[in-house]
Amino acid sequence: QAGIVIIGAGQAGVQTAESLRAGGYAGSITLLGDEPHGPYHRPPLSKAWLAGEMDGAQLVMRAPEMLARKQIELRTEVKVASIDRAAQQVLLADGSALPYSGLVLATGSTPRSLPLPGGNAAGVHALRSREDADAIAQRLALCLQQQRPVVVIGGGFIGLEVAATARKKGQDVTVLEAAPRLLGRVLAPALSDWYAELHRSHGVKLVFDARIEALETDSDHAVSGVRLVDGSLLPAGLVVVGIGVHANDGLAQAAGLECERGIVVDACGRSSDPAIVAAGDCTARRLADGSLIRLESVQNATEQGKSAAAALLGQERPFTATPWFWSDQYDKKLQMAGLSGGAEAWAIRGNMGGDMAGASFSIYHFRAGKLIAVDSVNAAKDHLQARKLLDAGLSPSPEQAADLGFDLGSLLK
Ligand code: FAD
Repeated sequence: QAGIVIIGAGQAGVQTAESLRAGGYAGSITLLGDEPHGPYHRPPLSKAWLAGEMDGAQLVMRAPEMLARKQIELRTEVKVASIDRAAQQVLLADGSALPYSGLVLATGSTPRSLPLPGGNAAGVHALRSREDADAIAQRLALCLQQQRPVVVIGGGFIGLEVAATARKKGQDVTVLEAAPRLLGRVLAPALSDWYAELHRSHGVKLVFDARIEALETDSDHAVSGVRLVDGSLLPAGLVVVGIGVHANDGLAQAAGLECERGIVVDACGRSSDPAIVAAGDCTARRLADGSLIRLESVQNATEQGKSAAAALLGQERPFTATPWFWSDQYDKKLQMAGLSGGAEAWAIRGNMGGDMAGASFSIYHFRAGKLIAVDSVNAAKDHLQARKLLDAGLSPSPEQAADLGFDLGSLLK
């Protein structure tokens, strides 16, 4: 008898499988992943793992034995080639077919590649998988030995985390950002500027409005530098490209499911086919106002996984929790709650300026007088409180938010 097949053994796939079991599903669950490893954590790949401060066991998300105990059949190095919706089966790359009664798409995302001459040279790396991280670590060590600089293309979270890790190792690092500021799409200008200062204070060189012409290569077709449109050349023994990702929605598109920048799902993870749900980086979620939102985070994968499992069990479990995210750079932990796009007013709570080493603060974002998001740096209590306030739809005034003497927790009582 056909059971549930999950394509993608990452954060969202594992969560969906475990939530199905926790929800009482007794049929077979097959978790298919095309990587050589069982499920592992991706966030450390640009942080502790890249820094060599973590061992392999700590990277494991779920040991295969643990999944087996829950009667979740994990199959690694299995790539799904297509979905036959009419016959309710998936076709594997080896030509075999696997029937399903319910299908979960949890295929994640793929880094955008650099469409430039030299973009595929040796020593040019994106960062998504454990193999990518290991290749970058190896190249970093070589660059350190040969005293060759590192260039990071893209001042987003992954690029900046790699820059911080490389800099901590004593590497010469330059970050090239096409926009006029770091993390421009997600951070308020004041926080972008603060992060620029943080990186400069650690010795990272930042180039804004960077226009890259080509990557230069040596006779072995290995990268040797980055040439900008203005003619300048930055020597490099390693180039890390972090310019965003695109959703892995190719299987869904080929199967005729509704896709728009990702597999379109509702708040319960349902796709346009009642037998198919989707979760994680591969999705674009339709909001109540009809707009689509794409989130690439552990929380999104986890929450959508729970919702998708519930949907397959015939239950409604909409994902309505406040989005949150974190990023570690040097000794600073950024924690973000809510979505700050469209903010019209800001309030700063805590100590942001002067002594960067002792900084601990949060930026509260307001739209139409209502709190919509809070970004906290080394202020974990503010972050947890912010999630509660936002989940409850409660809002301090900007004056209250900025006043350290005002107990924001009192709003929750
Ligand atoms: P994935 O974890 O990518 O899993 C999808 C899996 O499906 C992959 O193993 C893929 O190979 C497999 N697959 C795809 N197609 C097929 C197919 N046809 N057949 C079989 N298998 C297939 N998020 C945070 O919240 N905080 C952070 O600090 C943070 N840091 C990050 C740092 C890095 C370096 C990276 C890469 C990501 C980071 N993220 C962070 C994002 C977070 O890791 C992702 O949002 C999350 O892993 C998404 O989970 P997922 O299950 O949707 O996708």
